[in-house]
Formats: sequence, structure tokens, C-alpha cells
Amino acid sequence: MTKLIQHCVVPVNAFPVSWSSVMSLLSADDVRVAATGHWAFLLSRAGIPIEHLDGRGHPCPRCGGHDRFAAFDQLPIRGGVHCRRCFTRGTDPRPGDGISTVRWMLGCGFVDALRWIADQLGIDTTLSTKHSSLASASPTIAAPRPSISNDEVGRWTAVAKTAYRDMPGSMRDQLAASLGVTTQSLDHLRVGLDQSTGASTWPMRDADGNVIGVRMRDWRRTGQKWSLIGSHSGLFFHRVRPNDVPRGRLFIVEGASDTAAALSMGLWAIGRASCSSSSRFVLDYVRRHTPEKITLIADNDEAGIGGARRLATQIQHRGHRVEILIPPSEYSDLRQWHWHGADRDLVIGHRVLESLPAIMMPQQLLLGFDVSLSDAMTR
Ligand SMILES: [Zn+2]
Repeated sequence: MTKLIQHCVVPVNAFPVSWSSVMSLLSADDVRVAATGHWAFLLSRAGIPIEHLDGRGHPCPRCGGHDRFAAFDQLPIRGGVHCRRCFTRGTDPRPGDGISTVRWMLGCGFVDALRWIADQLGIDTTLSTKHSSLASASPTIAAPRPSISNDEVGRWTAVAKTAYRDMPGSMRDQLAASLGVTTQSLDHLRVGLDQSTGASTWPMRDADGNVIGVRMRDWRRTGQKWSLIGSHSGLFFHRVRPNDVPRGRLFIVEGASDTAAALSMGLWAIGRASCSSSSRFVLDYVRRHTPEKITLIADNDEAGIGGARRLATQIQHRGHRVEILIPPSEYSDLRQWHWHGADRDLVIGHRVLESLPAIMMPQQLLLGFDVSLSDAMTR
């Protein structure tokens, strides 16, 4: 992994090499443990200038002033900051640890703060949400994200390109066979190889198709998934020229390999890294390409269906009818269903779980979903 990381923004303290301990069971405590030592990186990602985290007085990133904002002691380990005016005793949230700081900066609830932090650290929450408190709580907003600079896009594009070139065709065939998808689908998603770990690399994109991060999948041993450090969570899709973007029915699926399965079936599909990430890019993509019909294919579990329902509501409120479809109960996700023979016609003809009518909400009521970080900071 080190080979790829050297191109990217890396926090001051190196991350532990193995994430297995935090990936298996994600809880607030797990997130705290994973974030320990990395709060300067995380808080700068949340929009606090890193040079303002030195413990001295500085302008508040939310309400201004000259010196009313300061970091508490042991910032890298605890992540606590305060502002004498807007983040102090009696405010909600109250200053305390880094999770409160993230809640305050992003204007989100506890669960969304955990998700956002996990996302920034590249911790996979897809599997673990099934067994943790994250699954039952419903988020109040989609986590706002800082804008992504051209430099960063350039770096991630280079990382993804190198990895794509490093994967021999025969290995792509092998990976395709092990996933039960076509080699062409992996080619279209620009799946590559990280030579240092042997893991496959899956570029994540914004709605325009720019590479903004890389998802990893250890396909030969454990099947673990994670994101390269500093990655932004984004979409998996086949980037084509504007005139070649398909029309008709768009399928939105969960996970990189499910996207490959959908493409293998000849569906117009985009995927997100987990059932709770990248809503904003999905909404951007939908706005840009105005599909005639939108179908979310959820994983066959509570977290998957819950995540699909939240996204469906956001899409619906932008004036689109949207359906949710789940694979038959014996299959956990779309890839498994495809593995057992499902093809395009079967998926297209499958009974939907729910169909939500289009609702056009006034822009100002679409709370939180589209806010950029700067909006969140000035609210
Ligand atoms: Zn303030």
C-alpha cells in the first residue's frame, strides 16, 4: 500500500497498517480508537485550518472573531476544541472530544459524525453496521464534504491509472471469474492492482467522473475492503463521453463489485461505496443525466434497505419517481443473485419492494443534503 500512498495526502502520523481490528465491529469506541492520533488531519478535513489547532487563540471557523477559538490540550489524541461564543458550555453539542467537534463543524448528529469520521479514515462500515448502533439510527443529514481540489483529483487519477496499468489482463480475467462478473465490467470501472498489497483497486468518482479516491479489495485472501487513506467516498461507474451516457432506467447499487455485476448484466448502473455514502454525488449524477426511471437495488439486509430508503427519499424530493428493489431472500446482494443466474431481463422484471412517487420540494426545505461545507459553517 505504501507505493500508492506516497502520491496522496497523508496525515502527519502514519496509520496502522491493518484495519482488521476496527473493520470487524464498528462502534463509537472503535471510531475513537481509530481516530486517535489523527484528529489534526480529521479536523482540517472538516474545515478547521490546521494552523489554528496549536492551542492558541484564533478566529472561530464558524463565527469569526479574533481569538475566541482554541484547541484543547492533546489535540491529535482527543480532538477537542472550543469557541467562547458558539461552542462552549451550554451549547448543543457541547465541546468535548473530536466527535463533538465534528458534529459542531458539520452541523450533524452523532451517528453522522461517526460515519463521516469512519469514511475519512477509510473504515468500511458496510459490513459492520449490521451489528452496531449505526444501523438503527437514522441520520439527519448527508455528511457534507469539503470541496475537492484539482490537485487532489490529479493525484488520485494518477494513482488509479498506475494501478490500472499494473494489473495484467490475465489477472483481471481471474478477478472477474472470482467475482462472477465480466472482465469488460472491470475494465470499464478501471479496476487495477496495488502491487504492494496485491489488493484490487476501484476508483471512486464524483458525478463528473473525476477520480476522487480509491477503494481497495483484498480479493485473494480475506475479501476485506477499505479505502486508501485520504480518499473521498464516491461513485463507481463507467465513464463515457457525454453523448454516450445511456438513457432510460438507471440502477443505483451498493458497493464496487455489485456495480460490476450490474454492468455485466448490461444495465445502466452506478454504485456507491456503502449504503450510507456519497448521496450528494448520486443526486448530482441524477440531476445531470435525468434518467427516465430510477431503481435502487439494496443489499438484502436491514442496513442496506435503510440506506436505500434514505437515498430514495432524497431522490424523490427532487422530483423523481424512484423504486427500491431487493434480490430474492436467498441472495445477500446483486452480485450473488447474478452469480446464481440472474440476468438483465430477470432484474428488470423483478417485483419492486417499494415505489416512491416524485415530490418536488422547495429548494430551501432540502435541508442539509446539498450543503457544501462552507454553507454548513455559516449556518
Ligand atoms: Zn464560534
